[in-house]
Amino acid sequence: MSVPYLNLAPQYELIKEKVQSRFQQIFEHTQFIMGPEVFELEESLKSFVGCQQAIVCSNGTVALQMALMAAGVTSGDEVIVPAFSFFATAEAVNLVGATPVFVDVHADDFNIDPNKIEQAITPQTKAIIPVSLYGQTFDFEAINALAQKHHLVVIEDAAQSFGARHKKLRSGNLSELATTSFFPAKPLGGYGDGGAVFTNNEDLALKLRQIRDHGSEKRYHHIHIGMNGRLNTFQCAVLLEKLSLYEKEIELRNDKAQFYTHGLKGASKIQLPKVHDDNKSVWAQYTIQVDNRDLVQQKLKDLGIPTSVHYPSALPDQPVYTHQVASCRVSSTDTARELSQRVLSLPLYPYMPKEDQEKVILSLLKVI
Ligand SMILES: *Cc1c(COP(=O)(O)O)cnc(C)c1O
Repeated sequence: MSVPYLNLAPQYELIKEKVQSRFQQIFEHTQFIMGPEVFELEESLKSFVGCQQAIVCSNGTVALQMALMAAGVTSGDEVIVPAFSFFATAEAVNLVGATPVFVDVHADDFNIDPNKIEQAITPQTKAIIPVSLYGQTFDFEAINALAQKHHLVVIEDAAQSFGARHKKLRSGNLSELATTSFFPAKPLGGYGDGGAVFTNNEDLALKLRQIRDHGSEKRYHHIHIGMNGRLNTFQCAVLLEKLSLYEKEIELRNDKAQFYTHGLKGASKIQLPKVHDDNKSVWAQYTIQVDNRDLVQQKLKDLGIPTSVHYPSALPDQPVYTHQVASCRVSSTDTARELSQRVLSLPLYPYMPKEDQEKVILSLLKVI
């Protein structure tokens, strides 16, 4: 019997009745777009994150695009992004007509290296999008200080870190703007696409709400170029019920991560993920580093253990950039390239059976 990489069924069992009854209410009130559940979710998200405003939207990529638009980033501008992330982090910058500038990450926490940012800043630089990769927050103190010095906007891409903490502060509340994704495989996922933008700036929040609805101030009165970025009422109902489990699930995710760390810590050929003392990760991924990664992955697959590679190449090495289909600038990228050859993510979800985790550990120790 092979181990599933992710199994969402046990979670559904816990919320089934509540989700179904919420769906029934939506069928009856018929406000499928911008129904009361949308505003209920925004209230719950903002109190969870501890910020002033949460604006839900159709997905995490649109969230980034909306945040960049609200910040006034446009063609001719440069935006600093990590050289190692999911493609959408850079794609959103190109979508608003600006140029992503790739800065290398740190091998310890996989996040953008604050020491390499300043050399990438030019008079065109408008913003920085640090990513809290795999569920651990970025070094926001260093990056906010740099941003202040150079008058840049910071937009945290918290697609993988919703719920994570640095001391008491939550991811999503560490910078002027932050975005997240509710894609089903993210730590807090819906039953379909979804996303959100967070801010403490009321002016930006108002602009984000307008951008989400075709740049309109009121019906048929358009003051910006916006988009249709709305999140449908059904997804909000799902997310409300999932959010009620989430605090407990963060603990379960941490228990699973600890179990891996405990089971693998003796293996000298495996480099384990590190979490800084003041951080609490939500473990979007439990990502180890190994030599001969592809071979290790194949051997694990043969033993019925699925793994993933997040991500198999550094962002500037994507064909869209190397073939110059879209603009980019590379400031530094060595560690990102090295990580892309070494990273391997193991199965981890809050309801993962202990026997499955033991099987992963034993198989990995065997293969190594
Ligand atoms: C998933 C993800 C996104 C995009 O979110 P979608 O909801 O899939 O559009 C953006 N950035 C990062 C780091 C992600 O992991």
